[in-house]
Amino acid sequence: MSAIRDYVMEHELFCHHDHHADYVEFDAGREGYDYASLLGYATADLITAEGPRRLGGETRGRSPAPPMERGRIERLWPAIRVTGYGRAVDLTCRALFDLPYSPEHWDAIDEALQAAIENKTAEEVYRHFVHKQAENTWTLHDGRMRLDNPRALTPGLYPASYRFAFRMDSLFTMVDAAPLDELEHFTGRSIHTLDDAVDVLNVAIDRFAETGELAAIKIGMAYNRELAVDDPTHHEAELAFNRIRSRKVFWDGMQQNSGAVDAAASRALGDYFFHQLIRRADADNLPVQIHTGYLAGNWGSLGGTKAMLLIPILDKYRRVRFDFFHASWPWTSELGAMAKNYSNLWPDLCWAWAMNPTESARALSEWIDGVPFTKILGYGADTRLPWCNVGYSLQAKDGIAWVLEEKIARGFLSESTAREVADRIMLQNGEELFDLS
Ligand SMILES: [Zn+2]
Repeated sequence: MSAIRDYVMEHELFCHHDHHADYVEFDAGREGYDYASLLGYATADLITAEGPRRLGGETRGRSPAPPMERGRIERLWPAIRVTGYGRAVDLTCRALFDLPYSPEHWDAIDEALQAAIENKTAEEVYRHFVHKQAENTWTLHDGRMRLDNPRALTPGLYPASYRFAFRMDSLFTMVDAAPLDELEHFTGRSIHTLDDAVDVLNVAIDRFAETGELAAIKIGMAYNRELAVDDPTHHEAELAFNRIRSRKVFWDGMQQNSGAVDAAASRALGDYFFHQLIRRADADNLPVQIHTGYLAGNWGSLGGTKAMLLIPILDKYRRVRFDFFHASWPWTSELGAMAKNYSNLWPDLCWAWAMNPTESARALSEWIDGVPFTKILGYGADTRLPWCNVGYSLQAKDGIAWVLEEKIARGFLSESTAREVADRIMLQNGEELFDLS
């Protein structure tokens, strides 16, 4: 082990993105935690390995994929144990239980996992896995601050080291009144006009801001549509809004209760809400986290997810700080060039190490050459269960160490500069961006 590797492997991490269950949800699932709950994203690789024509092959691409029975996982595991997703599972297993993740050990893994959480409160479980084992000092969480979460405003259901992102992706593809109903229900306010809708959206965000734990706006729109966003006028957005809000009117001689507008007609409204959210982030000086690049699960529409599509947004909102996720893989070089060019952009390697460790290392190496290291965000686990962070953290640390070792060997960085880069990309840049320390 090199000195820089030792340094990186023992370093704390800022987890820029995660979806951990809250304590209530975690406790509700206790009995079911077994070897399969270590898989995380690897389920998607199992489906890919299986191919489309096998009995029970998953072709609907739901995310997360439904649970698989043991025999099927056992049959498919050997094919995926060397992918980034697969290696993360094995790393978690070895680090926690000193066992390789192979079928003959699954019963032992079930027992070891249950033993590790029994007699511990959810809070203690999170402290053990997230803080002690994965050394994730801070977590930026996505999932709590959503209108459809019944415990969205309940305090005390996450460790004190967690901050939260507000997310409401349904605004960007609105074809009926469901998102408006949700806003009305959450706030107790009525929405009659487009301006009402924007006001009520801001009231909803106020509720989250009042907790003192709102730290970002999250946009996960890439799962539902392409990232190219136009700049519609109020009137253009209102055309779709009015049809959605007033279903009993005879529009062009037709009245129908369902399907208020089609995707094309709703686009201006979706884009309008996108701008409203960025404006709110500007007003409150909140960073905006945007999913770019590869999509979780299978059968995702990758073509519309590249970060480059968001250049008009970076250019228009020059005072807003943007955190672009997942290295925009497979467009990591493009994201690096953008981060060099736009001072309001922080490129983020969250979840990227698990998807493709080698390409993530190459991306980090390129970015350090092109982008001030004070802007690079090096890690995020992006998991739902706390023990998954252990493998994802080790994978990120291994990749960061590999890149820094190589740069020291080439004479690009001194040992002490490499440590400074590690401090920054692993912890301090996140603390600075999200105003935590
Ligand atoms: Zn995520």
